[in-house]
Amino acid sequence: MDEQKPVTCVMTYRGVNGFPKGIYEGTKRDVLVTGNIISPESEGGFNTVPVDVARRVYQEGKPMVGDFMQRIDEVIVYFGARGSIASLEAVEALPEPVQQNIKMVACDCGYQMKKQKARDLGASITWSECGGDRTLGRIVENLLR
Ligand SMILES: [Zn+2]
Repeated sequence: MDEQKPVTCVMTYRGVNGFPKGIYEGTKRDVLVTGNIISPESEGGFNTVPVDVARRVYQEGKPMVGDFMQRIDEVIVYFGARGSIASLEAVEALPEPVQQNIKMVACDCGYQMKKQKARDLGASITWSECGGDRTLGRIVENLLR
């Protein structure tokens, strides 16, 4: 195992298709996935995620992110509909150097607001379906190649 490989941290309060919470070893970099699959069934039939639920998911992911912080050089963060406030908070809680390389994956609910957030964060946006799990899954697959 090469300890020096950089790590991409994927932060989402939803899930990443094919990649449950954990660390994945790639050829050139490793990928840390910190989200949980929250199905509509598990959260009272709502297809959007309440902010407090999103906050809880990020809170639970924090120790993992801390463990790999020294190697994290980019962060991919999902911005959905209601939960995006928690995404922004989670990003703002990251150390300054890590905040320099944020990539947003966002559904187009609240399109203008998200474009503004991307400008504020100096982040690029990859537009995705609501939930972002399939798009994130493809991104992680590519990163591990
Ligand atoms: Zn959406």
